[in-house]
Amino acid sequence: MAAPTSPALALLALCCPHCHEGRLFTHSAFNLAHFTDMPAQCEVCAVPLEPEPGFYWGAMFISYGFNVATVLAVGALLYWLGGDPDVWVYVLTVTVAALLLAPSALRYSRALMLYWFGGARYRYNPGRPRERAAQEATLT
Ligand SMILES: [Zn+2]
Repeated sequence: MAAPTSPALALLALCCPHCHEGRLFTHSAFNLAHFTDMPAQCEVCAVPLEPEPGFYWGAMFISYGFNVATVLAVGALLYWLGGDPDVWVYVLTVTVAALLLAPSALRYSRALMLYWFGGARYRYNPGRPRERAAQEATLT
């Protein structure tokens, strides 16, 4: 499969923002023991995937936004499609939906953090040789 040239498509596929080919996560989102695992650097372009220690703390705020959107969307769907059920149905359904979507929310939050706040090093550059990227990674 060819690498997507669009940053939005690369983000949706959870690919490296620099080369749009390498994967940001080593395991599937369904692997609950390892769904947060990221390689130290991109397997294709060798750009480091954690720009600095604690870089992904900001992803918590993005994840919070995803969870609020989930609560609002599920609540609205229940209200309109479910005929405004009892409160316990809202609470149970929203809780189950938030728990099921938690791995994806975490992964997309981290990806958005890297795409939005990674800086110039993470701009799309498909022609960048792997060796040069590796040298830059060791210099910084
Ligand atoms: Zn890459």
